[in-house]
Amino acid sequence: MTAAQPKASHYINGEYREDMSGSSFETHYPASGETIATLHAATTDLVDEAVAAARAAQPAWAKMTGVERGRILRKAADIIRERNAEISRIETLDTGKAIQETLVADAASAADCLEYFGGIAGGITGETADLGGDFVYTRREPLGVCAGIGAWNYPMQIAAWKAAPALAAGNAFIFKPSEMTPLTALILAEILTEAGLPAGIFNVVQGFGDIGAHLASHPGIDKISLTGSVPTGEKVMGAAAPTLKNVTMELGGKSPILVFDDASLEDAIGGAMLGNFYSTGQICSNGTRVFVQRGIYDRFVERARVRTETIRIGDPLDPETQMGPLISAAQREKVLGYIAKGKDEGARLVTGGDALTLQGFENGHYIAPTIFADVTDDMTIAREEIFGPVMSILPFETEEEAVARANATEFGLAAGVFTSDLTRAHRTVAALEAGTTWINTYNLTPIEAPFGGVKRSGIGRENSKAAIDHYTRLKSVYVATGPVDSPY
Ligand code: NAD
Repeated sequence: MTAAQPKASHYINGEYREDMSGSSFETHYPASGETIATLHAATTDLVDEAVAAARAAQPAWAKMTGVERGRILRKAADIIRERNAEISRIETLDTGKAIQETLVADAASAADCLEYFGGIAGGITGETADLGGDFVYTRREPLGVCAGIGAWNYPMQIAAWKAAPALAAGNAFIFKPSEMTPLTALILAEILTEAGLPAGIFNVVQGFGDIGAHLASHPGIDKISLTGSVPTGEKVMGAAAPTLKNVTMELGGKSPILVFDDASLEDAIGGAMLGNFYSTGQICSNGTRVFVQRGIYDRFVERARVRTETIRIGDPLDPETQMGPLISAAQREKVLGYIAKGKDEGARLVTGGDALTLQGFENGHYIAPTIFADVTDDMTIAREEIFGPVMSILPFETEEEAVARANATEFGLAAGVFTSDLTRAHRTVAALEAGTTWINTYNLTPIEAPFGGVKRSGIGRENSKAAIDHYTRLKSVYVATGPVDSPY
């Protein structure tokens, strides 16, 4: 395997930058455990340098027209598409996700995002309110310098989902990838420079939680956007509080899928499998509580088992492979711990449940896609985010009961409904406490759709026009057209 060593660890002020004084760390190929790159974490001094570069560059970027900014973002989208095969390979090496996924869902999603926000950059406008002579107009202004902190499951997608709307609106950006997957954000930075982005507008600094915390508390940063777990979200909001930073939080979930008796069985199973096994189950919006109505319950469980047992698990770089390993040994231990709890607490193991050792990939963090049936709401596997390929199936009798049980969670990221009854589909989706929902499909996240959570799953929205609101501030301007009516 060719190593994926980048030119340097960081990208600051338009160029790759190494800083040997930061502690070194390795990134591994999860299928084999091999080291694919060695990098250095940033020091706080280096972060400060990135902030200074971003602050210096941002005013000129904001003065360009939206169309000019958008042209650069759209050009970057084209370059990403030209380099998709190469970037997808690096994303597979960094995450272990199957290449058949990374080819369509990672760099490709980043390109869609840059194209979308490039397209609407010229359409970011304020409004006018006529006061019968006097009038008020609003200006949608950039926040200044924004920062993003990423998770490891969709490294380049997360970097783009955060940076593209920010840049379109005239902000500068500093991104800290997950320490588990540091590579493709650097490629994004390199491509943005090639597309014409001025130096200092998109910067990448590497590091662990301490560097994330430094960004979150930094007085020179106006906004922090995190994709990560709920506990990290609490810490980041806390660190951002003294400077009253604007925050976007894309956090974890325990999302429900409701499958009614009248649903297309095979479509519902396909949706539930997508919502539990794609990316080896490491997706925040996964529908890990599959509520199935009694009338089709037994058939659903049996067909889900049969289809799950056909999933091709193997070499992530083989285009035929449908499921790769988990990101790390620690993540596999965590998932196996939840599976053990599921068994102990009385859930019925339908398939899977074990770690897998694959020939040629003996050090890979593989695990069999797992289904539990007869899961009850109080079981740990029905309450906590597992972040692995573990589906829990829970029977239900009535719509009212299913909605109440689906909502009985602290999370609220996503939800899905499978039914052929039009009125029930809309009624239940309206009643579900979630930010991102689907009817008769699951886990599709086109750039046109707002994405984000409610309750403890998040604050703010990514993607769609809504993301612009989260990277701009509104200024109102009152304009008088007559004399000042003063009593003094
Ligand atoms: P994590 O919370 O462990 O880490 C996320 C990022 O936060 C990493 O870059 C990490 O270095 C950084 N970090 C850790 N401690 C920090 C601190 N105190 N201050 C600032 N930054 C800190 O999450 P993870 O394990 O990388 O990812 C999995 C989690 O992310 C899951 O809970 C998953 O649901 C969630 N996630 C959410 C979305 C979404 O869009 N809602 C998408 C993907 C993943």
